[in-house]
Amino acid sequence: MRRLRGIPGAEGFAVGEAFLIDRRRLRVSQRKIAPEGVEEESRRFLAAVEATDAELQRIGARLAAVGGDTLILEAHRLIVRDKHLIERTTALIRDKRVNAEWALREVGREIRQVFEQVDERYFRERRSDVDFGVRHLLVTLIGDRPTAAPVPAQAIVVAHELAPADIAQLHRAEVQGFVTEVGGPTSHSVIMARALGMVAVVGVRRATAQIASGETVVVDGKHGEVLVAPDPPMAEDYRRLRRERAQRLHELLGARALPAVTLDGARVSLLANVGSPEEVSLALEQGAEGIGLYRSDYLLQVHAAGLPEEDHLSRARQALASCGALPVTFRTCDLNASSGSGGLGEGGAEANPAMGLRGIRLSLKQPEVFTVQLRGLLRAAAGQKLRVMFPMVSSLSELREAKSLLYRCRDALVGECPSELEVGVMIEMPSAALIAEQLAREAAFFAIGTNDLIQYTLGVDRVNDRVNHLYRPLHPAILRLIARVAQVARGAGIGASVCGEMAGDPLLSLLLLGLGIRTFSMNPRALPGVKAVIRSGRCKDGERLAQRALSLATAEEIEDEVREDGRDVPRRDLCRRHGRRERGRAVASMSARWAP
Ligand code: PEP
Ligand code: MG
Repeated sequence: MRRLRGIPGAEGFAVGEAFLIDRRRLRVSQRKIAPEGVEEESRRFLAAVEATDAELQRIGARLAAVGGDTLILEAHRLIVRDKHLIERTTALIRDKRVNAEWALREVGREIRQVFEQVDERYFRERRSDVDFGVRHLLVTLIGDRPTAAPVPAQAIVVAHELAPADIAQLHRAEVQGFVTEVGGPTSHSVIMARALGMVAVVGVRRATAQIASGETVVVDGKHGEVLVAPDPPMAEDYRRLRRERAQRLHELLGARALPAVTLDGARVSLLANVGSPEEVSLALEQGAEGIGLYRSDYLLQVHAAGLPEEDHLSRARQALASCGALPVTFRTCDLNASSGSGGLGEGGAEANPAMGLRGIRLSLKQPEVFTVQLRGLLRAAAGQKLRVMFPMVSSLSELREAKSLLYRCRDALVGECPSELEVGVMIEMPSAALIAEQLAREAAFFAIGTNDLIQYTLGVDRVNDRVNHLYRPLHPAILRLIARVAQVARGAGIGASVCGEMAGDPLLSLLLLGLGIRTFSMNPRALPGVKAVIRSGRCKDGERLAQRALSLATAEEIEDEVREDGRDVPRRDLCRRHGRRERGRAVASMSARWAP
């Protein structure tokens, strides 16, 4: 048996036969076309545009039917139908008398270069959309349809990289999951896999060279491990884990309408993180009591020219309408190295993108673009309450500047304003946590984004697998910051939620309760598991656990304490099945759940 390490993508276990998709071998050679063949070659190209567009549209419709986000597919369709791309390619075919594939590849490169030369990183990162759009077209032209090849149902796909459109197709083909060489937990494909309930491990170096089609593989999406050719009893164990997990998830859903109240009567709000109006329905099905984090940046990722106000408006309105009286908190655009490229491109050109122009910094630098979003949100909530929060705030000045822009937008919108406006701030930087008192005087609520808070506090890039082992959610510094923010919020009489991935881990639910958190916002599919822990636990126990944890000096000691305390948490199947040592391993790799 070979054990390959990767990055946890989408949680769950899968056991099946590997099916390799080698997408890098897309060879494009130049062919001279006879003068009389030029028209036919152009027609062939235009037919490929039609066929690719129709296919993307079909995939989008299927994806929408299962509640997936179709925005990325829309972006690829925009590229495929792009007027400039079509005109330039047909002109090259005509002028140089070359085959359509070669002409298209040249034009794709030209467009890519234009994106690369733009100053704003956000626009530069749209290269990946260009690449995927062009690639789709090339695949149609060449007739090599990697993912359209009949992927056996229940297979586990192994590839260098998969586009969101591939994930939609793989889901339709009923594959169990996938392993890719690149990508991170915030890549578009992984986000989509989670929404579709597929298992995924990404960032497995040289996976396509180390796994052969037909080999049995186990994918452990929780711990980011792939076992190749496991011993039959081990494979059988994982099959059982998969069945048990499905059964347990099914059972947990039975409690979706019950309130999240601890045995000693503490009422907890369980909200969902979503990235599109489509995901809102999934969240409600899983028992969400509202949306605690609406990542509006996904909208912007797919529209290189910025999303028009009407689109912001209609999508926000759709989310508000689906939620009815339930609260929805919109986060303004937070484009960054990971979400901006979605793991699909080569990353930003800034030397240190996580510390660069992202979140509220980027929005404030481009007030004209920011205003479009703010106006869309304000108008969507006309006559009702609007909750908005700003990401990556590191100072009070930023909060003030963003608020003043928001209020100016509101004042300019006569007759189309929300009846109530609550403006919150995400606590994602140590600086924000340390000036929480000052922020609390001018913010209506806090949302603690632990994904970034951990990254910035520990100085560990959350998308760099080389420092993954240092990404420790249970580092004492993190717990102190969370406790501090919760305490300040309580003192100021404002709410404080946790909306980073820590909120969705049942193992940490009692600890977070004990640290003073009463609102958790998470991936919709994590809701039932967290609710089960909350309903079967006591707040008092959480407080005792938090006190013990806060008295410890190292992440390892706290992890041990939490593991010991949570030994009965139902989700930790591996721990139960494989005894104490593996339990230790499972918890030790717990941090990998959040870090790519
Ligand atoms: C976070 O940082 O915890 C968060 C919720 O924001 P994102 O993951 O989108 O950066
Ligand atoms: Mg964040």
